[in-house]
Amino acid sequence: MTNTLVDPQAARPPKRSDTIRPSDRQLKLERRMVLLITILPFAGAAIGIPLLWNRGVQALDLILFFAFYVFTGMGVTVGYHRLLTHRSFDTVRRIKLMLSIAGSMALQGSVIAWVADHRRHHAFTDKPGDPHSPHLEDAEGIKGVLAGLWHAHTGWFFDRDKTNIAKFAPDLLADKTIARVNKTFPLWAVLSVVLPGLIGLAITRTWVGGLTALIWGGLGRIFFLHHVTWSINSICHFYGKRPFKSKDHSTNNWVMALLSFGEGWHNSHHAFPTSYKHGLGRFQFDPSAWFIAGLGKLGLATNIKLPTPEQVVAKSA
Ligand SMILES: [Zn+2]
Ligand SMILES: [Zn+2]
Repeated sequence: MTNTLVDPQAARPPKRSDTIRPSDRQLKLERRMVLLITILPFAGAAIGIPLLWNRGVQALDLILFFAFYVFTGMGVTVGYHRLLTHRSFDTVRRIKLMLSIAGSMALQGSVIAWVADHRRHHAFTDKPGDPHSPHLEDAEGIKGVLAGLWHAHTGWFFDRDKTNIAKFAPDLLADKTIARVNKTFPLWAVLSVVLPGLIGLAITRTWVGGLTALIWGGLGRIFFLHHVTWSINSICHFYGKRPFKSKDHSTNNWVMALLSFGEGWHNSHHAFPTSYKHGLGRFQFDPSAWFIAGLGKLGLATNIKLPTPEQVVAKSA
């Protein structure tokens, strides 16, 4: 079980070429985009909650919230993470295309940038060079803890230095399908917000129905998934169980696993990064792994990677 792209055990000090420093103008533009992408869904949820309170929860809004949450969430976990970052299985072009579009619709960044950041996280986990560790703050005590958690959760998006994608994801830059999805990220981002609204409008035939569908199926759902995914970077490197020996602070947290389609088994993931299954225990909820196993049964996924029982025992804490 080794990751052929980036070996997380091959600890080395970070090099200058691991990151690039954008121009001031580009950085300003990027920071504005990040603000828009993080604040707009938050505003949508903030408006939506009192709105729902007054009108009661509409079944259609809940269905759209859930359907888009599953579609885009699995796009991140199965597509961005287990397929493209770690190559825990291979699949056909149309599934890869669908998963990378679904992941883009989660509005967590374009596919190649996301993968490059996450490979850098595995290369330097909780050590200098990790883009989003909660353990690298200078401040002491509770101040240091809160600063670390904030940085790992959202603060790192505003860092001056950005991951060098040419170094961490050259395979994806060379992949025409992925490069095209990456380039058209703004389209998928807009579609992710607008599409639930259009569905709501078409079904209810009222502007209010369209608006609440956009707020809940679009913005509110993006807000919720954002913070679940980002909690893997913050909470799952801070609080939870550590059943495996890994040279970092990653944890297994069942609450986060429930909300994130199995990504909360994060200590297991850092112990076996290329395993398609993160919930390695018997009753560990991991729908992303079930989906990959399902693709395998249909002949649409091959080379599905899993550690042997002996490897699991050898790494157990
Ligand atoms: Zn991690
Ligand atoms: Zn990973």
